[in-house]
Amino acid sequence: MSINIILNGAHGKMGKTVAQAIVNEPDLQLLAGLDHQDDLKKELKKYHPDIVIDFTTPQTVFDNANTIIECGVRPVIGTTGLLAEQIKKLEIVCKQKSLGGIIAPNFSIGAILMMRFSEMAACYFSDVEIVEMHHPQKRDAPSGTAQKTAELIANNKKQKNASAPIDATLKNNMARGKSHCDIPIHAMRLSGAFARQSVVFGNSGELLTIQHDALDRNAMMPGLFLCCRKVMQLNHLVYGIEKLI
Ligand code: NAP
Repeated sequence: MSINIILNGAHGKMGKTVAQAIVNEPDLQLLAGLDHQDDLKKELKKYHPDIVIDFTTPQTVFDNANTIIECGVRPVIGTTGLLAEQIKKLEIVCKQKSLGGIIAPNFSIGAILMMRFSEMAACYFSDVEIVEMHHPQKRDAPSGTAQKTAELIANNKKQKNASAPIDATLKNNMARGKSHCDIPIHAMRLSGAFARQSVVFGNSGELLTIQHDALDRNAMMPGLFLCCRKVMQLNHLVYGIEKLI
């Protein structure tokens, strides 16, 4: 039996890639592609899909997710920019409805492994910084992936060596990056770049760099389609696909 899907943000860069790639997945049926001129609620009532894939904007994703859940449809959210408290609210409403859902700042399997390896390394290194580089059209900074990586590292991090503290006068210096979970994130936006993230760990006498490059949007398709299948078995909201692979 096929899984019926609505794609929200269908005219965008990710939306177009999804619409092209999904035709090669025999068990996934794209019912319709919507964009900002469409009334999401009305279309959900018309099509009764199993899933909505959302690749829209950080400004609209929270309202979209609420509408999707309210209509009893499983959200698979690729749009970045959701705040921690918004994710918590969405987790609560999914739980109340025993509804499966997935929020994934990055669907690339290689990027998920980069995050997992960083989480593993975190307990062995006192210092860590994240450098992310994306195309200039990206609408948020730092990236959702960088923030999620910082959260995973922070949960598993070795205590900083008290004898080598960072100079306190640099704490709020913007050149040191934006601090997330006390980890500096440096965000570059460059023509020619697509999506790269390096996580650089430091200990006295050694550095470890874990780096992932996504070369184009097809990098996210296997992970996205995996989520479309896994979400059908869930009865709660999952944030990050590292728990699913
Ligand atoms: P994009 O090219 O700007 O596409 C966004 C699309 O959503 C546009 O067509 C936009 O229309 C439409 N839109 C805006 N508001 C909407 C609404 N309320 N309802 C329906 N459609 C709406 O952006 P993109 O590069 O595809 O990226 C989309 C999001 O996915 C970003 O947050 C990006 O960071 C994220 N992303 C995630 C992954 C991942 O693996 N999770 C990978 C790549 C990108 P208008 O342009 O006419 O406003």
